[in-house]
Formats: sequence, structure tokens, C-alpha cells
Amino acid sequence: MTKPVIAIVGRPNVGKSTIFNRIVGERVSIVEDIPGVTRDRIYSSADWLTHEFNIIDTGGIEIGDEPFLDQIRSQAEIAIQEADVIIFMTNGREGVTLADEQVAKILYKTKKPVVLAVNKIDNPDMREMIYDFYSLGFGEPFPISGSHGLGIGDLLDECAKHFPKEDEEQYPDDTIKFSLIGRPNVGKSSLVNAFLGQERVIVSDIAGTTRDAIDTPYSYDGQDYVIIDTAGMRKKGKVYETTEKYSVLRALRAIERSDVVLVVLNGEEGIQEQDKKIAGYAHEAGKAVVIVVNKWDAVEKDEKTMNLYTQQIREHFLYLHYAPIIFVSAKTKQRVHQILNIVQRVSENHAMRIQSSILNEVIEDAVARNPAPRDKGRRLRIYYTTQVAVKPPTFVTFVNDPELMHFSYERFLENRIRETFDFEGTPIRLIARARE
Ligand code: GDP
Ligand code: GDP
Repeated sequence: MTKPVIAIVGRPNVGKSTIFNRIVGERVSIVEDIPGVTRDRIYSSADWLTHEFNIIDTGGIEIGDEPFLDQIRSQAEIAIQEADVIIFMTNGREGVTLADEQVAKILYKTKKPVVLAVNKIDNPDMREMIYDFYSLGFGEPFPISGSHGLGIGDLLDECAKHFPKEDEEQYPDDTIKFSLIGRPNVGKSSLVNAFLGQERVIVSDIAGTTRDAIDTPYSYDGQDYVIIDTAGMRKKGKVYETTEKYSVLRALRAIERSDVVLVVLNGEEGIQEQDKKIAGYAHEAGKAVVIVVNKWDAVEKDEKTMNLYTQQIREHFLYLHYAPIIFVSAKTKQRVHQILNIVQRVSENHAMRIQSSILNEVIEDAVARNPAPRDKGRRLRIYYTTQVAVKPPTFVTFVNDPELMHFSYERFLENRIRETFDFEGTPIRLIARARE
């Protein structure tokens, strides 16, 4: 299921990132824990009461060296493009400014719901400052205070009223949804064209799909596929091209809706930081992953090149040790036809269920061969393991004390499970829980 998206727009210094951080709270992310990345986080999942959603701080999307007003205009356009509900944020202490009116003008153009927030209303005496903001034409302004955490619940209640109804874009269960992600120019569109067998990406806008996602349904060898979000590739608008953060954001949205993610690399170039970041999200989101090295035709090679390249990928993408790697050329179509077969295979693994009895035999056998090490005189005891979810396969192990399950032992158990069952291409999750 796709989560609704809220985007925050508004001129600088009204408090967008303060509110974003308040709403997002403390969220740990293995990818974003890289120093320097956390600070400029602009996209995150969040929840409020029973609602789960994603939220974008458009203020963090810098667009080239556009002048100030053009920047906030572009950010408002992105909000309109990406969001289900838009929070239009203003500063109650400064009243309505020219820049606020510019943002309003752009937001008038969308039919999407806009909720007007007036920030920096730090105490009840200041509430009358909000009346000025009715003039913007978005109805009742919501007073909030980012620094004091006031009014945010009411604001989110209002947003939630406008969330789209669930299940608007369900495909049949046996349809495999996949996306191609990677830096600009690695050849994503060319690959899609290559396996669609057409010169241009044919885009069919499926009735009922929401939020501008344009999907391409495709059938091959008796299997139905949907290629997610070729829109991001097609619309090589100025903003998309010049803004790394925006293209990452599009990739994240596509990853979320996919079962299988093809991480596309350019074989002509080395592996870059952005490649790793995007691939990390796919892993974190629990998606099946295939690494596709494109432009293999343009690589000068001998019989060792493929091995060397594989080694490099394994070193750079440590957490993706389960992902198959395929070397292709969209140009000559070399091995392109194998991609969908691999997608199908890893997708089956991603949805695989293992019988508890067999699973427990494997674990018992593993423990017998390599008992958990002692920790401060105590030893981990494993009682029972069961699979609680698919996509990705998720296992709960009941133990005497979850603290005793160390990373290295967890890794050992994961490897034993992988050696026994074919989980190629999919992450698997092991959760240790204390037996009641
Ligand atoms: P952005 O540019 O819109 O993302 O704004 P920031 O979140 O960076 O906030 C700009 C400034 O306003 C910072 O100095 C914040 O500490 C301050 N600020 C944010 N929210 C509030 C608030 O509710 N009350 C007051 N008094 N200051 C706030
Ligand atoms: P995208 O931005 O990732 O969608 O990349 P495109 O599909 O637009 O391709 C970017 C450029 O790389 C274009 O000029 C393509 O013709 C070229 N290209 C794509 N695939 C290949 C390939 O397999 N081999 C070679 N030599 N060039 C390719």
C-alpha cells in the first residue's frame, strides 16, 4: 500500500524544517546515519495517531542557482507534483509577505488540498495574528509553534482528513512491480525501451492511479509486470535534472511502490556515492534488489573484467551481498532479455514462505554446530523460530534474552538460512524476541 504524502512549502525561515523535524521525530536509518547526510534530510516516513504517511520538506530542495523567488516557486511546483496534501507555511510574527503571496499564486493552480499553517504563534496571546492570513484564500489558518510543539496535532488532523482513500492503485497480487533507479544517464530509460522492444517508452496512465505516478504494465513469458514511475525518467524537466535531491526523492517514491528494485550502474564509470545512497534505501525498505551494470558494450574488457567489477560492487555495496549482478547493454541488448527472468526469480524469493518445522530444523542444526558465544557468563538460548511476514521474509526467533543475540551471531544464522533456502535477491530480517 502506498502511504499518503504531505509536502511542506513556504518561504525561507518560516520554520519548515523545524516542523518537519518535530513531525518526523527521532528516526534511525542506516543509510542516513552517514555523517553529513542526516542534516539535510528532506524526506521521511512519519506517523500521527493511526495514520502513516511520508513527508517532504521542500525547503531543502535547492534548485541550481535560481533567484530566491524562482526557488520557492519551483519548490511549490514540486509539492504540487509529489504531494497528496500540501502544508503552506507562513510566519505569524511577520504577517503576510510578498513571497507568501507568490507561493499562494502557484498553489491556486492545484486542486490538491492546501492546509495553511501560521507558525511562531508561541503563546495563546498571539492567536489574533492569524487573522491576517485569511487573505491568502486558503480558508482557516492553523496556528502552530514549531519551537514549542503547539498546534501540530490539529494541523495533522486536518491533513489526514484529506488523505486519499486507500487501495486506489492496487494491482493483482501476482503482478510484479519493479522500478529502475540510478543516477541520471546511466541508461534507465534505454533499458526500459530495450525490454519493451520499442523505441520510446509507451506510457499508459492507468485509470484510478493517483499522485501522478505513471506506470507501464507489461507482460512477458506469461508473467505480468508493472514498471513503476517511468514518469520520473520521462519527464526530464529542468528541475528533475539539475536537482540531485529531487531525483533522489523520486527514486525513493518509486522504491516504495516496488517489489523489486533494479539498481542501475553505468559500467563505463566507477561506483559513486549517490549510487550507494540510493541502493541503500532499497535495502532499507526491504525490497528485492538486482544490480544491473549497463553500457557493458562500451567497456574495454578481457576475461577478468567482469570478476573485477563484481568484486568492486561487493566491496562498495556490502549490505547488498544477496543481490544478483547482471552485466548488460541497452544499446546492443546483450543479456537484456535475462533481466525480467531475474526479476521474476528474486520476486518469488521475496515472497517465499518457509514452513516452521523445516526452519527450526535448520536453526537447531546451526546452533548445534556453532553454539552462541557466552556473554558475561550467560548464553543465548533459542527456543523457536517462525516466519511472520513476506516481502521481505521476516523471522521472529524466541530467545531467553534478545540482548544476547549479537550482530555476528545473527549474521551466522542468516547465512545458514540463506544456504538452505534460495533467498537470492531479497533481504531477510531476523528479529529476536524474549519468550514470554
Ligand atoms: P525554514 O527555512 O522554513 O525551514 O525555517 P527553519 O525551520 O530553519 O526556522 C527558521 C528560524 O525560525 C529558526 O531560527 C527557528 O529556530 C525559528 N523558529 C521555527 N519555529 C519557530 C516557532 O514556532 N517560534 C519561534 N519563535 N521561532 C521558530
Ligand atoms: P537515464 O537518464 O538513466 O534514463 O539514461 P538514458 O536511458 O537517457 O541514457 C543516457 C545516455 O546513455 C543516452 O545517450 C543513451 O544513448 C546512452 N546509453 C544508454 N544505454 C547504453 C548502453 O547500453 N551502451 C551505451 N554505449 N550507451 C548507452
